[in-house]
Amino acid sequence: MHLQDDLTKHFRTSEDQKKALARLGLKTVRDMLYYFPVRYTNVSEIKLIRDAVIGESVTLYGRITKLKVRKAFKSKMPMGEATLEDTSGSIGVIWFNQAYMAKMVHEGDTVELSGKIAEDKKGGVYLSNPELKEKNALPIDMHGSLFGAGAEAAGVFGFPIYRETRGLTSRFIYHTVQKIIASGIVQNLEDYVPAEMLAKYKLPRLSTALVWMHAPQSDNNAQAARKRFSFEEVFFIQLARKIERENYLVNKSYPVLTKPDDMADFVGRFPFKQTEAQEKAIATMLADMSGPHPMARLLEGDVGSGKTAVAATLAYAAIKNRPIDFAKGARQTFGSLQVAYMAPTEILATQHFENFIQYFKHTGISVGLITGSGCRKFPTKVASAEVPWTNISRTQLLKWVEGGEIPILIGTHALIQKSVKFKHLALAIIDEQHRFGTMQRKKLVTKEGFAPHLLSMTATPIPRTLALTIYGDLDLSILDQMPVGRKPIITEIVLPNNREKVYEFIRAQLKEGRQAYVICPRINEPDPEKELAVQARSVTAEAEHLRESIFPEYTVGILHSKMTPAKKDEVMEEFSAHRIDILCATSVVEVGVNVPNATLIIIEGAERFGLSQLHQLRGRVIRSNHQAYCYLFAETKSDKTADRLKALKTAKNGFELSELDLALRGAGELGGTKQWGITDLGMEAIKNIKMVEAARTEAAAIVQTDPGLTKHAHMKKILDAKSLEIHFE
Ligand code: ADP
Ligand code: MG
Repeated sequence: MHLQDDLTKHFRTSEDQKKALARLGLKTVRDMLYYFPVRYTNVSEIKLIRDAVIGESVTLYGRITKLKVRKAFKSKMPMGEATLEDTSGSIGVIWFNQAYMAKMVHEGDTVELSGKIAEDKKGGVYLSNPELKEKNALPIDMHGSLFGAGAEAAGVFGFPIYRETRGLTSRFIYHTVQKIIASGIVQNLEDYVPAEMLAKYKLPRLSTALVWMHAPQSDNNAQAARKRFSFEEVFFIQLARKIERENYLVNKSYPVLTKPDDMADFVGRFPFKQTEAQEKAIATMLADMSGPHPMARLLEGDVGSGKTAVAATLAYAAIKNRPIDFAKGARQTFGSLQVAYMAPTEILATQHFENFIQYFKHTGISVGLITGSGCRKFPTKVASAEVPWTNISRTQLLKWVEGGEIPILIGTHALIQKSVKFKHLALAIIDEQHRFGTMQRKKLVTKEGFAPHLLSMTATPIPRTLALTIYGDLDLSILDQMPVGRKPIITEIVLPNNREKVYEFIRAQLKEGRQAYVICPRINEPDPEKELAVQARSVTAEAEHLRESIFPEYTVGILHSKMTPAKKDEVMEEFSAHRIDILCATSVVEVGVNVPNATLIIIEGAERFGLSQLHQLRGRVIRSNHQAYCYLFAETKSDKTADRLKALKTAKNGFELSELDLALRGAGELGGTKQWGITDLGMEAIKNIKMVEAARTEAAAIVQTDPGLTKHAHMKKILDAKSLEIHFE
């Protein structure tokens, strides 16, 4: 057996299992070995049937036999019956009025059942209406020897439980993995993490960790194995980012030099004084950009903290520099360096374009806009007060950009298409894109090895440990200060009985001409088959309800993630133009769109959201001179919920809230794989600052002495296989 062998070569699999394996991305022996259990059932927690006491609520593990459905004696209601056996004995199971339960299990299944021990008329005991906790949870062949004294004798700590999917049971996965381990392949695996590193952090070596992961002998074993793999994951992400960083920093950049008077003049034109945080960020970045190699920096700051103003200032610094004539080794006497500013949506790109016109109109330079739906240029000969720009053709715009005549180009992703060529690109600003990956970055590097200074900006609040990991390729600057004089958003936690009062207040505000967001946790009504427990308000139903019963005199619009981007843009335009009064939406409105007249936000089912997400949603109403209000409608009355939500009234910024999320709800709250490309296991490390810093230190040390990983061939191979987006030249 080899790690890279196809699983089907060694294991007979049905068509359904093949499909299920593909769904989980499990193709090779290696994939299977790295499909880790989500948890272990602890043998010591297992109640033996022999010890079951009448009246007690228990969880029992055992094998199902004598399964049948029959009509109850008097009522004739169908009921399910079975016998549950473990090594200590057996007990009857009855599902009254729940005959379907008998169809959810099969004869011979090993299950975990939770229910109450009851007494029947004849003095016997049975397990009454148990809930099916786990089906096929236990490896059936281990079953006989693993309860009570047997388990202790065998020295086994718990059964691994794997995430199942239709057609693939935890039991099948368990057996497959155990056969792989039994083949001896694991013992011979060479570790790609150096032994010294493992010793330093007291982590088990690869072969041990794999065995402990899938068949731990103790809780400590399981913990140690998990720790090793979560460390390993964070380490490799950091290593990839550090290498990416090195690869980018070797490029040449145009040094951006500034004159203090000149900068003071630009900043002095702002209708406000910069915050200290803004000043500090600008100074740091001007220093970064003055060198011959690119800056690579992330600017984190809450919505409204003034990131755009910082970006404009840096853009100004860049365009005040003449390009360098390399043939002569001197600055040219004409033209200017160029700036690209990329936004995630057309609406945002257009908003930045309009802001930049205000910031740059006194300079006489041109600003261009490129999006999927067209191109614009400022200034124009046919200018009017309302429309200071003109539509131009893409071809014309690209020609001017390539010729260096348009110093600032703002746009969406269209900005980094191949056809867009800059003459002297000195600075690339990327707004609110979680990762500007290697491939995208590469498009900015010229044939001659010129790369722009890179400024990424984000308002997405994440804990420091997560930032250090996923943005390991960037230096960090934080705007942790809001402009003075900004009215804080009045935030209220609203319990169900106060709903009416809030609606009346909102009606009064709408009458004054304001607009409102209503955020719901779901798009549609819950699917009764799938999520019986979910009562969350849905966008479609809530919009209907508001329209008919609450605010019939106002226009209600809908926005959610299943709509096409064009449709979403259209709705936002309508809202922006105040043809919609109330926008009922899912959390898609998160990404910064500026509707200054929208000063009210209601968040339904607020307890379902993380604090930092609530904070971001609330950020939608920060832009106005009018007082803004945020109402958090909670569905539960629990004090714990209310306490958690209260942090939104007291925390200074989103970063503080994200740290709270991490502490209170765990790393899962931060949305691992999907949002940040880290597995649940890797996210376990995010809670541990020491572990993240250790991984960072180790990765930095390796990259410093061996950036091409020539002396770490095995590590390089693993890194490539992990496809963490780095690409060696
Ligand atoms: P962000 O991009 O971080 O959300 P912006 O740069 O768009 O924030 O700024 C939000 C608003 O605050 C804009 O209207 C901007 O002109 C204004 N602003 C920026 N910096 C300051 C400041 N230091 N004092 C007052 N207002 C500011
Ligand atoms: Mg912004």
